[in-house]
Amino acid sequence: MVKSALTEHKITNFMMETINSSKQAIALEDKYGAHNYHPLPVVLAKGEGVYLWDVEGKKYYDFLSAYSAVNQGHCHPRIKDALIEQASTLTLTSRAFYNDVLGPFEKYITEYFGFDKVLPMNTGAEAVETAIKIARKWGYEKKGVAEGQAKIIVAEQNFHGRTSTIISFSSDANARKNFGPYMVGFERIPYDNVAALEKALENPTVVAFLVEPIQGEAGVYTPAEDYLRQSAEACRAKNVLFIADEIQTGIARTGSLLAVCGNCTCERHCERQASYTKPDILILGKAISGGFYPVSAVLADDPIMDVIKPGTHGSTFGGNPLGAKVAMTALEVVRDEQLALNARKLGKIFRERMQLLVDKYSILKLVRGKGLLNAVVVNDSPDSSTAWDMCVKLAENGLLAKPTHGNIIRFAPPLVMTEEQLHDCCDIIERVVKEFEK
Ligand SMILES: *Cc1c(COP(=O)(O)O)cnc(C)c1O
Repeated sequence: MVKSALTEHKITNFMMETINSSKQAIALEDKYGAHNYHPLPVVLAKGEGVYLWDVEGKKYYDFLSAYSAVNQGHCHPRIKDALIEQASTLTLTSRAFYNDVLGPFEKYITEYFGFDKVLPMNTGAEAVETAIKIARKWGYEKKGVAEGQAKIIVAEQNFHGRTSTIISFSSDANARKNFGPYMVGFERIPYDNVAALEKALENPTVVAFLVEPIQGEAGVYTPAEDYLRQSAEACRAKNVLFIADEIQTGIARTGSLLAVCGNCTCERHCERQASYTKPDILILGKAISGGFYPVSAVLADDPIMDVIKPGTHGSTFGGNPLGAKVAMTALEVVRDEQLALNARKLGKIFRERMQLLVDKYSILKLVRGKGLLNAVVVNDSPDSSTAWDMCVKLAENGLLAKPTHGNIIRFAPPLVMTEEQLHDCCDIIERVVKEFEK
């Protein structure tokens, strides 16, 4: 059979393109990819520890950590080795059968965080969906709410992911507009406001309160010291589940293993600490795999998790041996390298140095955060391009950060950073801020 010229032409076009310049890579993404993001004009080609390199070989400090997914640093050698070894052995079986890594992973992660059971998923949004499903089912089968009536309380300015259910209770117009009809059964209340929560809890059909211990996407809104504890207690008094979405704040990011650990820096969960607020359901994602593989998890104790029975929930990839092995190793790295302690120590230094800039330069309004999840608010309107322009300048000076909500810059480096590197980064930020001071 003779191939037509047209067929030949198409076949040659299927060859993978090699990237030689940032410009070429950006043009390809622009032409062939959906425009669902607005990236800074930097094309990354390599990562190691706290560093990233672009296509042209320019080196940067990473100050975003893929939204806190690479707390362990880029291409951590131990996690990489675990991935390669498991990838050469067994990657996916589905849950139609048992596999020999899932059980050890489930034991490891439940002991690590102090829960009876885990339900493994892949992405953060899926884990949030899973928690919502568990909470509703628990509400009907354990609390006795009439079927179809369950309400879940959420906070203003929340970010829990991008599925149609989750965006239904978002207060971000961009995330919602023209994606309706929306899922019912959610009530939004102001964040960091226990009185508002107590009022919403008066409704007997409420089954859960879903909250971020620190609102990362919203601009690192850090609530009052006792907000989580008081919220959890208010929920408990009304037999309502307290669900912590620690997808961004968890795994040592905020200077303790979990943000709900309060002031505890131990590298393994413990309930002895007075500052600890145990959630009824804990949602993890992002850094649980150190940036190697999508892994997320929902943790709860038996009286809650046992509403899940065969056939009620699942995922083809959830709990696969590759993800399970990677996640176990990524959590071991967090513990062995004492990343929570380092995040706490460096976070303090970072905020101190940023506070000096805030005091000195009127272009900065304030710094806030906990551990190495911090944000600097630029003293300009959210509609201004100042924060964006600053991030472009920071990139030119070798530091990658991204603005959020117009005038807020989130600063969240990998937790393996050294004190010397952090000071180097603060020097870069100071240089750039100085340039913007009029
Ligand atoms: C990133 C994030 C999610 C969503 O995770 P994906 O893996 O992007 O689906 C949910 N909640 C919080 C707090 C997050 O930071």
